[in-house]
Amino acid sequence: MTHLAANLADVRARINAKCRVVSRDPASVTLIAVSKTHGADIAAAAIAAGQAHFGENRVQEAEDKWPALRADHPGLTLHLIGPLQTNKVADAVALFDVIHTLDRPKLAEKLAAEMVRAGKRLSCFIQVNTGREAQKAGVDPSETDGFVASCRALKLDVVGLMCIPPVNEQAALHFAFLRELAVRNGLAQLSMGMSEDFETAIAFGATHIRVGSAIFGARG
Ligand SMILES: *Cc1c(COP(=O)(O)O)cnc(C)c1O
Repeated sequence: MTHLAANLADVRARINAKCRVVSRDPASVTLIAVSKTHGADIAAAAIAAGQAHFGENRVQEAEDKWPALRADHPGLTLHLIGPLQTNKVADAVALFDVIHTLDRPKLAEKLAAEMVRAGKRLSCFIQVNTGREAQKAGVDPSETDGFVASCRALKLDVVGLMCIPPVNEQAALHFAFLRELAVRNGLAQLSMGMSEDFETAIAFGATHIRVGSAIFGARG
């Protein structure tokens, strides 16, 4: 647990240092602590260390972990960063504040309808498959403009774009590309950068970085 507080302080210091170098306000970068696979006790320790934004990649796991923590700690923001199945949409809308993985028309329709039904409007990032990897989620880059427009037509609150670069490629190229797509679509926010590359992502304009292992240690 003491490691956790030190790791968190270190990541925050690295964010601040990088922001200084690239002349950005550190307040413009939201650190999302990715607590997937780690238990509620670990998440609670991160909250005690001042962390307020958390990311989970599975709806079921988040449902087991977060309702009790949220009841004890109002003011937390919970981000869904993993794939969302349409049969989990109601659960996701009930629990999360921000969705980072909006990536197909059917999901957009279900989310829009559920947000109306639940009377709760979540911010949404559209995930773009910048590396056009067959096994990876996300809209094809060539379909991004059209998908953004159709999500807006559904009255979804589209705030930005998200990507997960291919493991063996220069992340910077993907970050620059994602930024270009966002600017072209009038989107101000960029969810990009993980433990290995969040400083690079900050240099390319990331507004939300998703950091797991650098804070919580390796996942088992
Ligand atoms: C697990 C995960 C992360 C965090 O990865 P680390 O390398 O542990 O920082 C970020 N984004 C997504 C989408 C993830 O699934």
